[in-house]
Amino acid sequence: MISYWEKQSFLSFDVAIIGAGITGLSAAISLKEKQPNLSVAVFERGILPSGASTKNAGFACIGSAGEILSDLSTIDTEKALQLVQLRLEGLQLLRNRLGDKNIRYRENGSFELLNKNELDVLDKIEYLNNLLKPITKKQTYSIQKEEAVNNLGLNKNYFKAIVQNNCEGELHTGEMMKSLYLFAIQKGVQVFTGCNVQQIESKNNTISFSVSNPVHQNDFKFSARKIIAATNAFTNSIFPNAEVKPGRGLAVVTKPISNLKLKGIFHFDEGFYYFREIDNRILFGGGRNLDFEGETTTEFGINSIILNDLLHKLKNDILPENNFEIDLYWSGIMAFGKDKFPHFKWLEKNIFGVYKMGGMGVAIGSKAGEIAAQEIINSLT
Ligand SMILES: Cc1cc2nc3c(=O)[nH]c(=O)nc-3n(C[C@H](O)[C@H](O)[C@H](O)COP(=O)(O)OP(=O)(O)OC[C@H]3O[C@@H](n4cnc5c(N)ncnc54)[C@H](O)[C@@H]3O)c2cc1C
Repeated sequence: MISYWEKQSFLSFDVAIIGAGITGLSAAISLKEKQPNLSVAVFERGILPSGASTKNAGFACIGSAGEILSDLSTIDTEKALQLVQLRLEGLQLLRNRLGDKNIRYRENGSFELLNKNELDVLDKIEYLNNLLKPITKKQTYSIQKEEAVNNLGLNKNYFKAIVQNNCEGELHTGEMMKSLYLFAIQKGVQVFTGCNVQQIESKNNTISFSVSNPVHQNDFKFSARKIIAATNAFTNSIFPNAEVKPGRGLAVVTKPISNLKLKGIFHFDEGFYYFREIDNRILFGGGRNLDFEGETTTEFGINSIILNDLLHKLKNDILPENNFEIDLYWSGIMAFGKDKFPHFKWLEKNIFGVYKMGGMGVAIGSKAGEIAAQEIINSLT
């Protein structure tokens, strides 16, 4: 029941991308920017992207001091610096493509809050600044005066010091993803939603895959010369050897709060918690470390232990001076592995995987997509 026209215009492509998160859409855009004549389509299982890209907190981060120190203890220095470089380049690419106004990019300050057990980070700031200077070209971190904790209205018994990051900002996740989607379409990318790609078959250098058709019993059969899997935490469900672990993240947002002092983005407890101001509200997320095992899942859902912990911290540590009400809470699914470095690898002949974006896809996703696009282009020539 496929028409001649559908067969001609909708079913076969040079490159098919699975996953319409920031990485998949960015890969599609990069392909069209580099080779406008390529036919490129993105297939997304949800009506909206259904992983992390429309669920996150919108921190456009290159890494807090605590996080970089932790990276330096798990991967070698060169790789840790490369990760910072990729994030900086990714963020710049995103901003250049979409424009700061469209994605509501702002630099209202990015702050790491340290508790009394973490104050040794302060002794490493000079070392980190020297290490990162060749990449960021400025003083990356500065230590705020102690009274800054008071001025922000935070719990001064818990937070003892603040390190500011001078190289990162925040954006409006919804506007960013909407702009990215429209930008991809403008570039000539076809985006199909509600398409859960499952069985992929390779034959004679052509790859085909079926997607169930809600209005007819016959599945749609699509084909492509190359595929990019930008499926992040869900990559294992199509490629069982993909070596990635899902990690669910929870976020809550308050209703607007009068006399809110906080502006900017904040992290604490080694980045396991993060909050920011948006539209006079506080968006607060994290707490996965309270139940790593339970949160190693690709199922959306709310862990009540984590939700209660977030509400407790919001009331006692973040907004001790304000009355507030919760407006919404939700979860999203991230992807993790042995280290923080994303996977860039050929999963099968003609299928390139770009996934495992951890908690940094906002900054790195555009660059990761560009790297995947270049791999595909190299393989086509
Ligand atoms: C609560 C929360 C807060 C976060 N906060 C931040 C933050 O402030 N800053 C930051 O940098 N990062 C943050 N992250 C992480 C960030 O959102 C991710 O790193 C980033 O979105 C990953 O993008 P992606 O495109 O690689 O993956 P995803 O956005 O997960 O996209 C993968 C897509 O593939 C689709 N898919 C999977 N399987 C199939 C299939 N078989 N067929 C078709 N489609 C399929 C999925 O539905 C999904 O839309 C946060 C994440 C969460 C959950």
